[in-house]
Amino acid sequence: MTTIRNADLHCHSVVSDGTLTPEALAARASGNGVELWALTDHDEVGGQQRALAAAKDNGMRYLTGTEISITFIGQTVHVVGLGFDADNEDLREGLRQTRGGRRERAMEMSDGLAKVGIKDAFEGALKFVGNPELISRTHFARFLVESGVCKETSEVFRKYLTEGKPGFVPHRWASLKDAVTWITQAGGMAVIAHPARYKFTPNEEFALFTEFKNHGGQGVEVVTGSHTAAEYLVYAAMAKEFGLAASRGSDFHSPDDSHTELGTLPLLPEDLTPVWELLAPRIQ
Ligand code: AMP
Ligand code: MN
Ligand code: MN
Ligand code: MN
Repeated sequence: MTTIRNADLHCHSVVSDGTLTPEALAARASGNGVELWALTDHDEVGGQQRALAAAKDNGMRYLTGTEISITFIGQTVHVVGLGFDADNEDLREGLRQTRGGRRERAMEMSDGLAKVGIKDAFEGALKFVGNPELISRTHFARFLVESGVCKETSEVFRKYLTEGKPGFVPHRWASLKDAVTWITQAGGMAVIAHPARYKFTPNEEFALFTEFKNHGGQGVEVVTGSHTAAEYLVYAAMAKEFGLAASRGSDFHSPDDSHTELGTLPLLPEDLTPVWELLAPRIQ
């Protein structure tokens, strides 16, 4: 097998909060030179068969993927799963449980927004939803941009959808242990997503990495659209300190949002073990 360099192992389709179909994402990734691809929809594996077929149609290798929302020390953390059996019933049930409650949360978010004069946000957000079980803050953000309340989605998050803001509703997601276990018992690898995004103290971050390892987690995203170049170096060092393999992924959601393009980030630093080396037997 030729050495894989351009792997993009993190992105979202209409099955969660992206705006492109798995087929359109595959064509776009391949057009940008991606050799190994994974679709990682939030809390959902409903797009995996289509993504695999589209990867093959476009001459790419494929790893199954998902991005699980968990709560750790009071914060939402994302754990990416790669290379698992997408038909595994325990994993599917775990993801179903994690998705449960999103609709109620969204109705509460809508109530909060109504109090500051933004009416019918639930119905508005629903117009942007591709998967009725997966209404997310991103869909509210798109609605508030469309209706002219904000200029761009990042402004919506800053003003309305983050802790302490009118549309924010605290939510309890899966546990770290459950998410890592669902992924690994389905034959896959758990990877800490975009670690620089969390607002943990150094001690809390140490606890996250330590507990993640203890539960059987094996990877961390080093090169991601959510990190600066300086943060690549910070988390390259963390990968080595904790003996974790390194992943690379754009976290692409939509051509309209100002997100990193598929397959265009810098390559992983040479001295790290890429997750796809350990996952070689799982590559399709
Ligand atoms: P949820 O799972 O409903 O809490 O929504 C989380 C999603 O919102 C993430 O996966 C991102 O796609 C998006 N998101 C979170 N923070 C921001 C931000 N500051 N700007 C733009 N999108 C964001
Ligand atoms: Mn998202
Ligand atoms: Mn994420
Ligand atoms: Mn993501």
